[in-house]
Formats: sequence, C-alpha cells, structure tokens
Amino acid sequence: MATILRSARLLLATILGVGAALFSAANADEPSTGAKSPATVILAGQIIDGRADKPIKDGVIVIRGNLIEAVGKQGEIAIPEGATIIDAKNETVLPGLIDTHGHLNLRYGAGGFGGVNGLNSQELAPGAEQMLYMVRDARASLLSGVTTMRMVSGGTPDNPIDLYIREGIKRGIVPGPRIIYGGTGLTPTGGHGSEGVWTDGPWEAVKRVRRDALDGAEWLKILLIDLSPTETMYTDEELRMIISEAHRWGMKVTVHATGRWGSSMKHAILAGADNIEHARPLTDEIIKLLVKHDVSVSLTPLVYVGFRPDESTWDYLDNVATGPADWIEYGRKQYFDYLEKNPEVRTVDRPYEDGESHRGKRDFFPSNKTQQGQALAAFKAGVRISLGLDTVYYGAIGNAIEYLIEGGFAPMDAIRAATSVSAEAIGYGDRIGVIEPGKHADLISLRADPLNERWAWSKIHLVYKDGVRYDTLSWR
Ligand SMILES: [Zn+2]
Repeated sequence: MATILRSARLLLATILGVGAALFSAANADEPSTGAKSPATVILAGQIIDGRADKPIKDGVIVIRGNLIEAVGKQGEIAIPEGATIIDAKNETVLPGLIDTHGHLNLRYGAGGFGGVNGLNSQELAPGAEQMLYMVRDARASLLSGVTTMRMVSGGTPDNPIDLYIREGIKRGIVPGPRIIYGGTGLTPTGGHGSEGVWTDGPWEAVKRVRRDALDGAEWLKILLIDLSPTETMYTDEELRMIISEAHRWGMKVTVHATGRWGSSMKHAILAGADNIEHARPLTDEIIKLLVKHDVSVSLTPLVYVGFRPDESTWDYLDNVATGPADWIEYGRKQYFDYLEKNPEVRTVDRPYEDGESHRGKRDFFPSNKTQQGQALAAFKAGVRISLGLDTVYYGAIGNAIEYLIEGGFAPMDAIRAATSVSAEAIGYGDRIGVIEPGKHADLISLRADPLNERWAWSKIHLVYKDGVRYDTLSWR
C-alpha cells in the first residue's frame, strides 16, 4: 500500500515537476506546485551509468526536478533552453553510491559523553546523544558520495532511532543520504547486538516483527552467530516464524550471519532470508545455496581488515578533516598503515576478538586473502554482492570498492556492486543505482577515472541526491 501510494505520488511529482530548492526537493515523496521546473545539464568527460560495461565518453545528463530526463552523448541529446549547465568535462559521473550496511547511531570505538548516567559507551548513550552522531555522520556520508544508506538495525522498539533520522532527512531538516529503514533488529539472548533487542521464542519475535512493520520498516534484521558446525543461535522454528511474518507484512529480511562454519548462513537461507550481512565464511557449499535461493550478500570489507576506529578517528572527522576528500584519504591511509603494522591481516584468518569468549570460540575474521578470494568466487558464481561500511569511515564506500578491485574484481564490476547491484539488492532497482531516464537524479562525479586510477574516490566533486546539489554545503 505504502509503495503504491509512493509511486502515485512520484507520478504526480513527475507530472507537476518538483521544486529544486535546497532541501525541499530532498523529499522525493512531496511534489511541489508550479510550472515545469528548470533543467540542469551535466556535461561529463565520461559517464559510468552503473549498468553498461563501457562508459559513455563525452556524455550529457539532463536532470529535471528529482529525476533524470535524458542521458547520452554530447551532440545527440538536446540541451533544454534555459538549463543550468554544469561543466564536468574533465570528470567521471557515476550513480550516487549506496551503503547497504549503515548504523548511523553507532560510532565504533567512541566513548559516550558520560554525564549523570555515567555511561561511557556511545552504544548505550541516550537517544538524544546518539542523534547528534547520526546528524553529523549522515552529512559526512552524503558529502562523501553516499546518496542511499540501508540501515541494518539501530535503537530499540521504544527508541527506533533510525526511523527518526530517516524522517529528518526526508523532510529536509538535516542533509543526509536517502535512508532505507531496517527496523530495530532481533537477536537471541546472548546474541550479537544489545540486550535491549534480545528476543526469544517465535511469538515474542513475531510481536517485535509487527512493531517494526508498524513503524514503517522496509527491512527486518536478524542477528545470528554460528553455535556449532550444524547449529545457529535461533532454532529453525524461530527463524521461519520471524521471516515469514516479516514477509507477510511486506518487509524483506536480512541476516547478520557469521561464524566458523557457515551454519548461520545455511539456516538463514533455508528459512527464506532475502539477504545476508557480512557472510562469513563464504564456502563453496554456501555460495551454491546463495545462488540456488537467489539470496544477495552485503559485504563489509573494511571491518574484516581488522582496523577499528577509535576516539581519534571520530575526532578527525569532527575537528580535523577539511572535507570529504580529506576524510576519504584518511580512511585510505589508515587502511594501508594498519596493514603495514599488521601484515598477517593480509594472509592469516584470526579468531574473533577475544578467542576465549563465547563468540571468539565460534566466530573469526577472515584474512584479506580469504575474504577477497571468497567474494570473487561468489561473484563469479552469480551471487549479487553489495557493499556496506558498518560504522567504519562513514561515506568512504569507495574504499570498499577498491578492496574488491584489490581482490580481483574488474573495476566496473566493483562499481556496479556499490550502485546498480546494491539498488537491486535493497529493492530499489526501479528507482536508483543507475543513470537512466526516469530514475532519481542521484549522481556523483570524480575528478578522476575510477576505471583506471586506484583509490581515487577522494577526488569527489559533484554530489546530487534527488536532483538537489549537496557538494556546495559546508563540511561542518
Ligand atoms: Zn552491523
């Protein structure tokens, strides 16, 4: 119903034309009144449209309202009279990047503000405090080129904080990527995730599913860790009940599935999950199952590397970085510094943090070699792979693209992972992820050629979301 309503509104928006005033048009669902809005034309050195194997050299993109009106080669596309012309003739224009694993309420490794509650972890901080990070990190993400972020659980049923940031961005109160709301998450007692969302038994779980559905979640998140070579933390009865109830409400289901054996992935896939987060280990058997059941995978490569942000990372974002270029470059440098100091990370699988803990005995971090090799094998077998940052370097999804390329992906395939493939995987393939007439005008440009130049994502220039230009906003 909501989708029908939205499409009806979009159609109306297309007919009426949508005002392009800063922020007001950020809400794609609300058409503004008035005559046909003026066009913006981007002249591009090349366009990577997110779908085709080859870029369009000397391309032109016509944007009207929040949609793309025309795309093609210069000279073949009519330039509307009175259009604002943007010169990106020395740049590459691509679809806005998509982060499929967002937790804007979390800053990995950061302390909280303390105060009367004496809480020293941002994860346990009051909602109002978490919202401050969210506003900051949503802005940083958008200015770094992420125009859509699928959230994968945050807050609690009494504090569905991801819902609030979605609405704040949608209504133009704060700038940020388009947020796909993924609910508050279900994890069994003792599972990954805060105690506030521990949920056991099919009926208690069903109640939680309904609550997320009523809050407007488009995705539901389940968190699983392998329990043994054959078992995961939820029983099949619980899993089937949760997933089928989510599907009945029109939600899709994504499952955090990690462990030494892959039993969580196996149970999740067979119980009907639509997507798997992290996905380790991606064994040949699991890859076959993913293909057979058409389940997509959201990889979070920068987490596997083992590097963890701390207070200094966030201080850099908040007080030192001069803009997205500086911030993305910082992420790149940390990646290589970390590998230089911890060369085993490239080749040796490690136990999950404290190897003696309940999780440490059952979970692990794959080496780059393992992870990159498995990702490439999965891709070649036909698994749809998208990319997520999972609280590391908000916005620097380009660095995750480079991780895939480092692992043997063709640059174009890695770019598609963060654009069209992600869009399809999150259920938005009809609206975003490609530069085509009728799609939302989510575009970025790089002063570089990402097909031939490695780690060039800091050379970001233009950022458009829903036809509104954001790169002209200040970083702070
Ligand atoms: Zn996560």
